[in-house]
Amino acid sequence: MLLRKYYLIVVLVFLCGCTSEYNLATGKEERLMYGTDKEINLGNAIALQIEKQVKFVTDLDSNARVHKIFDRLAAVSDRQDIIFTVNIIDDDTVNAFSIPGGYVYIHKGLLDKLKEDDQIAGVLAHEIAHITAKHGLKRMQNSYGALLLQIASFGSGEPELAQGVNAIITSLYFAYSREDEYEADELAVKYTQKAGFDPHKMIDVLEVLKAEDEKAPLRQANYFRTHPYPNERIAVVNKTISGKISFRDYLNLIGSDKQ
Ligand SMILES: [Zn+2]
Repeated sequence: MLLRKYYLIVVLVFLCGCTSEYNLATGKEERLMYGTDKEINLGNAIALQIEKQVKFVTDLDSNARVHKIFDRLAAVSDRQDIIFTVNIIDDDTVNAFSIPGGYVYIHKGLLDKLKEDDQIAGVLAHEIAHITAKHGLKRMQNSYGALLLQIASFGSGEPELAQGVNAIITSLYFAYSREDEYEADELAVKYTQKAGFDPHKMIDVLEVLKAEDEKAPLRQANYFRTHPYPNERIAVVNKTISGKISFRDYLNLIGSDKQ
């Protein structure tokens, strides 16, 4: 009987498995279904599937440049419990994304539009911030079956794993919430500043991408499809850097409210 009771407790703990922890990036106490070990397993499983489905840029110069910028940002980020890695996906998509466990991806299409290191730093810092604030992990645990994530996080060789992971990859192309985007931008300002980059260049990037988006708004998987609210984000970045909202941003915000 005692054994049965114990078994029940174990099962309940397994099913809920929630951990409460203080997140340095968000500055909040958060309830999460996954501890760091499981997050890493999940990230590894997703990264493996991504590797099978895309081609990475192998050019040494591009990789060296991106890695050098990325490593400086990762070193000052709020999470030192995981290893951050970055890869350049070899296609024309103008986008970047990240997955739990420390994996950041930037498409060559976006990289080609960024001329300066500080601009690249802005994009990479934003993606690192989604990982440090655990936005992807929180979204996955809210929107997907816990079981699916349990299977994936154990890194087993089950056939369901590939299917589940593919569903997660597809979800990476859904937009983050407005609050998550703003939080990632605020953290990106912090990380770029700490690493010695110019955070103002993040605004340049958003302006460049906004112009691109207005030229061809229907393109699939473009930057603002996964990272919407450009005017609001520009205002948040400006406000985080200067501590106040600019008149120009105010006008833009009124403009975007009318849309
Ligand atoms: Zn984002």
